[in-house]
Amino acid sequence: MSIEISTVFCGGNAKDVSFDGKTVKFHPDIRDTEGDWFYWALEVKGAGGMTLSFDMSPKSYVGYFGAAVSRDLHSWKWSDTANADRTGFTYTFAPDENDVFFAHDMLYHPSDFYSFAEKHGLSVSILCTDRKGTPVPYLEIGHGSRVILLTARHHCCESTGNYEMEGIIDEYMKNPLPDSRLVAIPFIDADGVVAGDQGKNRFPHDHNRDYIDGIYPAVRAVRSIMGQGHTLAVFDLHSPWHLSGRNDKVFIVRNGTSDIEDFRLMGRCFESEITPDAMRYRTSDDIDPGVEWNVSGSQRLACGSWCGTFPGVDLSFSLETTYFGDKDDVVSQAKMVETGRCFWRGYLRYRAEKGLT
Ligand SMILES: [Zn+2]
Repeated sequence: MSIEISTVFCGGNAKDVSFDGKTVKFHPDIRDTEGDWFYWALEVKGAGGMTLSFDMSPKSYVGYFGAAVSRDLHSWKWSDTANADRTGFTYTFAPDENDVFFAHDMLYHPSDFYSFAEKHGLSVSILCTDRKGTPVPYLEIGHGSRVILLTARHHCCESTGNYEMEGIIDEYMKNPLPDSRLVAIPFIDADGVVAGDQGKNRFPHDHNRDYIDGIYPAVRAVRSIMGQGHTLAVFDLHSPWHLSGRNDKVFIVRNGTSDIEDFRLMGRCFESEITPDAMRYRTSDDIDPGVEWNVSGSQRLACGSWCGTFPGVDLSFSLETTYFGDKDDVVSQAKMVETGRCFWRGYLRYRAEKGLT
């Protein structure tokens, strides 16, 4: 069987692909992102029983634990075979492994969201159609006049938040907030998710810098939901930079739209609900306004900050979830989902401590 390297699948991304019989060389395809970014995903067919090397040098966009590996684009594990300089990795295919996906991180696609909804007896609706025709799905759960809004994939390569979204929805169904609906929009940049774009710093601006202009259909739909005036809280789920430092953690991006004490309280409540099966979270990892990249000039166009200016919105922020974690706290799909459950319980605790019903 001849070996085939492909990017023709949901989320596929690689360029400069070559194969000499032993080593697959490639680079992340930056497309319309301004500057550099790190997302890549490719498929190898027909390599059963072989050991191959993968090399994207001089880029070092392999995580601490190697590539994310999947046979079906749904279940992911780490290869645990990163090169020392993380410019590549190796993989030994089992004799029957003739179709394997490799990616920067544990991907999450629309089919995952539909499967999740079906398992929970929830019916997915379509919010709008993206510019290239991709449907933008959403779930509305519960009954009541008040809205809790969840969003993810303003930056289409950032899949970790989708796993947390599953956990938040799962926990909400067990522990709902009275007189409220949970509105969950998992793919704001749906075109980009399917195409396998980077999404971050997309020209002329990315989806999380679009809240003034509204050039993207799903952003306009979020603005319209906010305009109805019933929203209590907005949690916008992201993944941070590739790795290192705070990027190896779960953290809240504090902005200027809520009192700093509210952010501190939410952080303490979330931390207190973290279970051993979740990713580690410490509120001391949260980033204050004005620190590093978290400056008001760029953030005011972002979902969390923009939505936070509406009357009645008590909390509105980005939650960032690491792609890889660190050696003491390695990312898995199950841990990210559990972190979402903990987050929802933390939010309920926050409301209770503030005396909010
Ligand atoms: Zn982001």
